[in-house]
Amino acid sequence: MSGFDELLRLQDHDIVIDQIRHRQATLPERPALADATAAVAAVDARITEAQSRRDELARDEKRLADEVATVEAKAAEVYDKLYGGTITSPKELQAFQEDHDSLKRRQRELEDHEIEIMEQIEPVDAELAGLDAERSTLEATRESATVALAAAESAVGAELDEATALRDEIAAAVPADQIETYDRLRPDFAGIPIARLVGSNCSGCHLTLSAVALDRIRDLPPDALATCEECGRILVR
Ligand SMILES: [Zn+2]
Repeated sequence: MSGFDELLRLQDHDIVIDQIRHRQATLPERPALADATAAVAAVDARITEAQSRRDELARDEKRLADEVATVEAKAAEVYDKLYGGTITSPKELQAFQEDHDSLKRRQRELEDHEIEIMEQIEPVDAELAGLDAERSTLEATRESATVALAAAESAVGAELDEATALRDEIAAAVPADQIETYDRLRPDFAGIPIARLVGSNCSGCHLTLSAVALDRIRDLPPDALATCEECGRILVR
């Protein structure tokens, strides 16, 4: 046993922290929320497309309605002249009558066309109502996914805070130079730079140390860092 046992304890705890961090980075609630958000965006695109079709039909209908009003006003004007008593020539009266009839025919044509457009608007309105209902459902899913992610993040965050506080406690018992060496080596050994010397084996690389290396390690003062000659890990003996 040596003072390096605390360092091993620190390493074990850092492995736990790494696992918590990994869980934090890969919370399944995150892609679930992304999917829900994408589904809302997809239905929004369909709504925009259907709405623009509806707007175009509505513009057509408005244009026809305006045209109907114009033709109708013109027909009324002709009608007033026709029956106003100011025109007496039969030839002229006949011309006005024909003009009036032609305007009324034109008005009916425009009105028929307007009805056709209104009939085309109906299914688009139904489509829009369906999409709106679909959007409400998807929006509710997204909201619950947002809540679920926030809860998961908060839980794993609390877990990490607690683990970090405990790490600080453990680290306080380890000499600063050991921590410095450990922190420096950690990235090179996938977070596990400290190994145990078990008999003549390194528990990190599982290789047997040479007799010379073992002798050298045995001769070290207890507070000196021993290193595995095979893998470079710090050996706790
Ligand atoms: Zn080794």
